[in-house]
Amino acid sequence: MSHVVIIGNGIAGITAARHIRKFSDNRITVISAENEYFFSRPALMYVYMGHMKFEHTQPYENSFWKKNRIELKQAYINIVDFKSKKLISAEGEEIVYDKLILATGSVTHFRGWKGQDLNGVQGLVAKQDLELLNNNSENLNHAVIVGGGLIGIELAEMLHTRNIEVTMLIRESHFWGSVLPIEEGKLISNHIEKRGINLVFETELAEIIPDSDNRVKSIKTTTGKHIDCQWVGIATGVKPNISFLKNTALETDLGILVNRNLATNIPDVYAIGDCAQQCEPIGHRKSVEAVWYTGRIMGETVAQTICGNPTAYNPSNWFNSAKFFDIEYQTYGWVFSKKKEGYSDFYWQDAKNERALHFQYETNSKKFIGINAFGIRLRHEIVDAWLTEKLPIEKVILQLQKANFDKEFSKKYLKKVQQAFQQSKFQKNLVDE
Ligand SMILES: Cc1cc2nc3c(=O)[nH]c(=O)nc-3n(C[C@H](O)[C@H](O)[C@H](O)COP(=O)(O)OP(=O)(O)OC[C@H]3O[C@@H](n4cnc5c(N)ncnc54)[C@H](O)[C@@H]3O)c2cc1C
Repeated sequence: MSHVVIIGNGIAGITAARHIRKFSDNRITVISAENEYFFSRPALMYVYMGHMKFEHTQPYENSFWKKNRIELKQAYINIVDFKSKKLISAEGEEIVYDKLILATGSVTHFRGWKGQDLNGVQGLVAKQDLELLNNNSENLNHAVIVGGGLIGIELAEMLHTRNIEVTMLIRESHFWGSVLPIEEGKLISNHIEKRGINLVFETELAEIIPDSDNRVKSIKTTTGKHIDCQWVGIATGVKPNISFLKNTALETDLGILVNRNLATNIPDVYAIGDCAQQCEPIGHRKSVEAVWYTGRIMGETVAQTICGNPTAYNPSNWFNSAKFFDIEYQTYGWVFSKKKEGYSDFYWQDAKNERALHFQYETNSKKFIGINAFGIRLRHEIVDAWLTEKLPIEKVILQLQKANFDKEFSKKYLKKVQQAFQQSKFQKNLVDE
């Protein structure tokens, strides 16, 4: 019987623990500094907004862990001695492992701005960030959020519910420009502005200026503008939480480098979830994937390998979903933010009702490779099958009803999409060739 130690009790670490227990009798210890019990990180915003209590973000009863012989330890690991297979906690406790899984997640990516250490500057990743945000929200009139992405929009919505004025600095000409094509970027930008958030485009943070108490007084932008504010939210992305592993024999780059079996360069040491970086690219996927469901898949995969069934990480088609205030967003496969040679697209929008679909396909073969949906919920299993089959784009458009989840998205809309597709210049190319 081996002792499997997992650092990190997020979705990746906990899924690994649960599956190792299913397949084996190994001793399992999960260590985390943040909170004793696993909780849903994406649900943190709803705690702030008063929709749920923090306890409700914990999917398992506290008794689950003892029943399943998964030992939980709340501690921060300072040192990993890979040679003697030993961990040392901040309190000096030593924990010996046979197999180690690193599932240490992400931290806010502070980019070295002048003033980033002032009181009133923070990101939103950990439970402690939420507690800090609650404290910082008192007497807060004007907040500046740096970065227009998923965490940025969540912060904006959260603060908005407490009637705090919010300004977002966005590097690109539209919201989430590194991911969304301009059409839907503009659609979402309009939606956010309508909700009363100030968006400042093509602008970045230059520095944060303190008051006499070392708190945020204002910021200066790269365009030379000064904005008075009492709080700055850093939402320019997250990065793997690996600083405590630097200067060891573990190979790292952006994250902990792993092969397809999620093994690191050190025997019996694996990395999963947000902190792992794939050595070999997998299709168009990013080498570090900081999303919930890929953490879960990696947890399941590494459990197989550790329990004697070496298994490669095989995440299938890319998928993600989010909500931008009232607009639901789903993305399947690949819709590129900028035009790419060899690929064509077709965009349909009902601006009045804030709905849109953006299809991407290979220009020559006409094979469907991705779709963005806004305000329209699609059936995962159907779209996933189309991507796997590489269905021709015309068939996708014709069969759209099959993927339609919402009753609201009536046949009337489907007809409009189909008619627009027939009229589009891309369809003309399809007919001509
Ligand atoms: C605000 C927010 C909203 C999000 N919303 C979504 C969403 O809607 N959909 C989606 O797909 N994804 C979302 N994500 C991303 C998703 O939550 C993450 O991809 C996922 O939680 C990562 O899981 P993980 O198990 O890799 O790591 P984590 O959940 O980050 O867990 C890692 C744990 O390891 C602990 N740890 C690290 N180092 C040490 C150490 N040295 N000693 C002890 N403990 C340590 C950390 O404290 C942490 O508790 C969101 C993220 C955030 C921050």
